[in-house]
Amino acid sequence: MYIDFHTHTIASDGRLTPTALIKKAKALGFGLIAKTDHDNVNLMPEFISAGKKFGIQAIPGMEISSRYLDKSLHIIALNIDYQNKKINWYAEQCIAARKIRGLKMADKLAINGWQLKKSELNHTLLARPHVALAVINHPKNKKRLLQEFGLLPDFSTFIKKYLAKNCPCYVPKKYYLRPLPAITMIHAAGGLAIIAHPACKTKEFSYSRAHLSKIIKNLPFDGLEVYSRDNTPAETTYLKSLAAKHHLLISAGSDYHGYDKEFPLGVKYRGKLVNTSYCTELIEKLNS
Ligand code: AMP
Ligand code: FE
Ligand code: FE
Ligand code: ZN
Repeated sequence: MYIDFHTHTIASDGRLTPTALIKKAKALGFGLIAKTDHDNVNLMPEFISAGKKFGIQAIPGMEISSRYLDKSLHIIALNIDYQNKKINWYAEQCIAARKIRGLKMADKLAINGWQLKKSELNHTLLARPHVALAVINHPKNKKRLLQEFGLLPDFSTFIKKYLAKNCPCYVPKKYYLRPLPAITMIHAAGGLAIIAHPACKTKEFSYSRAHLSKIIKNLPFDGLEVYSRDNTPAETTYLKSLAAKHHLLISAGSDYHGYDKEFPLGVKYRGKLVNTSYCTELIEKLNS
């Protein structure tokens, strides 16, 4: 049975509802999925009940956006009590702050000459992909997009030019938890804290070995996303050795956002989809 400990739904910047995600997982032969939407736990009851209905182990989770030593650090919380007060308080702060930030970025884009409808920014948890897509999907921007990018860009390409750090329409996050309080919050809600996409190549996340080493040594993480869609086989081997050395649970996550063609559900390692046998300790811990 295939597994995926890192996925997104319409509760953040994913494209599928929790039910559609579970149905897809079932159809593709998955047995375990964690829903880890950015900074909130909306639609978790739907996810859990769809899991029961379709016979998939549905793990409640969340991906916390944090920062450490001048880099972004995403923390995957697994098996949290999603009704926990602090978790819900944190989510409320994030939802409110991200709305303000998203609208500020929209204002900057408008000043920069882009057309966009604020009504396109009505998402539970507003993230940069939503803002980028509002520009990309507006017909009046087509000519300029083609001029600047040569073709209609995907949201990631657009973010890199306009909405990433040091870009003209970037607005930093006003509210976030530092890693230690975030991990403490996860533990208090009964969950495990996992370092997300440690070999991500995106500028805001790209870690040197020394940087990753500091994250591991200085913070009380429980696990490492050893199998991640960004990794080369050599990187996965390195991450596996780091997990063994530092007694971190091995996790596997695709960071699925519903873009099946580009980034399908599940992580592959040496051409094979990761199954339960790759993460036995983590699964045992979740089931204990
Ligand atoms: P936000 O949480 O609003 O800061 O948006 C960040 C999200 O945008 C990340 O979770 C990524 O999935 C996505 N993203 C896509 N391309 C980029 C990029 N070039 N830089 C940063 N984030 C990106
Ligand atoms: Fe995302
Ligand atoms: Fe992430
Ligand atoms: Zn993610």
